[in-house]
Amino acid sequence: MRYSEMFLPTEREVPSDAEVISHQLMLRAGMIRKLSAGVYCYLPLGYRVIRKVEQIIREEMNRAGAQEVFLPMVQPAELWQESGRWEHYGKELLRFRDRHDREYCLGPTHEEVITDLVRHELKTYRQLPKNLYQIQTKFRDEIRPRFGVMRSREFGMKDAYSFDADEEGAEISYSKMFEAYKRIFSRCGLKFRPVEADSGTIGGSFSHEFMVMADSGEDGLVFCSSCSYAANLEKAEVHPPEKENLDAVEELPLTEVHTPDIRTIEEVCAFLGVSPREIVKTMIFSADGKPVAVLVRGDEEVNEIKVRNYLGCDELELAMDDMIEAITGAPRGFAGAVGLRGRIIADNTLINMRNVVMGANKEDYHLRNANPGRDFQIEAFADLKIARETDDCPRCGKALSFARGIEVGHVFKLGTKYSKAMEAVFLDRNGKEQTMIMGCYGIGTGRTVAACIEQNNDENGIVWPMPIAPFHVIITPVNMNDSALAEAAERLYGSFAAGGFEVLLDDRDERAGVKFKDADLIGIPIRVTIGPKKLAEGKVEIRLRDTGEVTAVPLEEVENYIR
Ligand code: ATP
Ligand code: MG
Ligand code: MG
Ligand code: MG
Repeated sequence: MRYSEMFLPTEREVPSDAEVISHQLMLRAGMIRKLSAGVYCYLPLGYRVIRKVEQIIREEMNRAGAQEVFLPMVQPAELWQESGRWEHYGKELLRFRDRHDREYCLGPTHEEVITDLVRHELKTYRQLPKNLYQIQTKFRDEIRPRFGVMRSREFGMKDAYSFDADEEGAEISYSKMFEAYKRIFSRCGLKFRPVEADSGTIGGSFSHEFMVMADSGEDGLVFCSSCSYAANLEKAEVHPPEKENLDAVEELPLTEVHTPDIRTIEEVCAFLGVSPREIVKTMIFSADGKPVAVLVRGDEEVNEIKVRNYLGCDELELAMDDMIEAITGAPRGFAGAVGLRGRIIADNTLINMRNVVMGANKEDYHLRNANPGRDFQIEAFADLKIARETDDCPRCGKALSFARGIEVGHVFKLGTKYSKAMEAVFLDRNGKEQTMIMGCYGIGTGRTVAACIEQNNDENGIVWPMPIAPFHVIITPVNMNDSALAEAAERLYGSFAAGGFEVLLDDRDERAGVKFKDADLIGIPIRVTIGPKKLAEGKVEIRLRDTGEVTAVPLEEVENYIR
């Protein structure tokens, strides 16, 4: 590809509305452009990377015995009513009507469609197991699309669905996918960890999320350095907080308490009547299970409580302020004391919490017995969960470490949830009707690319790992008006292309500095620089993007050198 012909609009400025580095770099490197909230166009450079990831996924899915299909994005409401999710999915499901007033949704996932397909076609145990996958666009009307394609509303996903005749088979299907995922993310050059995830109502540990390790990640996870245990924070809540008897909780009146002495964590704890450990280990989760915040011991010297926000922005502080503002009517930011204690009642929702203690939005005051729902109503807090972290590995008892990650993949043993509701049955060996056992397995393609950038960048731009780099090599003649340089560049370009390299020839009439900057920004692993001095010696310079290492190599050896 010739740079001069490529649709590759790079930018020097850091876009002001992009919070995380991958979002900034994807915009700056001309990979994506926003169309509307959470809806993005991929430009040629970005799409090349997506295609690389898709190709790796395809190869590994095929290797694991899965077969590719392509399912409709527009899905009839009836199927979702059958599974029961039309009611339960909530606002993430984008619903609409056609000209005949029939209801539809845009597929956020495809369990219903695939189960419908399979129940009509697979009738006996002899046709099982089957694993079908697709790489397709999903739509989820995310409440807060952000971080570019990392959490968008329209996004690419590989989703696979396995159908088995029995439990043992289902476990084999699951582990095949688990292994395939390890291969996929390794091949993408990612540092990742599979972590145990909550399998919700299904039970067992048959759900794993594949987390790409990144401080900017929205997800929290714990892992044990002494054994192999790793889990997401929701799952890691191995000692669930004791449930209290609903009736036993008195609804006390909201009271403002003058608390000029509350400055240190010990003082807050004394005030709350809890041990420091208890408050230190208080976690707050959002409705979909994301850790939103944890109250932790702050800087020892200052000895204050900090709210560490797992979402990587000051959202929680804002929400706290909102909460405080809503109760006191005082202007936001007037006082930011944080002292939250909740009791977990019924289904773990904050709305059911009683008698919360929190900072009043007034200096030296706290509020006691604040009851969400009674004393204030804030949508953002309407479905927060609160739970406790655990310190110790549930397997070996050693200390757990915390880290942040990006969920790029999820494998899930579904059991008979959908097959039962939608009657996906088959005849077993004895001619008896049985319900198929399902698994589902997702990978976000755009999110995987973004996660890769989070792990592979420096102050000059992206540093692609070779397997998913949009081009392997960029040839940079420092001056296109120098015919000797231009000719040498063309010759190398031709021979690289013939040799099977994906190569970008920077044939633009630009200063060398501009070309170098762009090459660094878009992150091509190998740059071949053609300059007059070296060329006079019959050499070019090869520079590696990741280490910055530069080597002068004779022209005729270049191809061998980089291979
Ligand atoms: P999250 O917890 O981040 O909302 P999820 O658990 O809802 O993700 P799954 O239903 O498990 O997502 O979907 C499988 C994969 O699809 C995820 O692991 C992720 O890689 C990707 N994905 C999910 N939602 C989005 C999104 N809004 N934007 C981009 N990719 C997404
Ligand atoms: Mg989600
Ligand atoms: Mg998730
Ligand atoms: Mg998930």
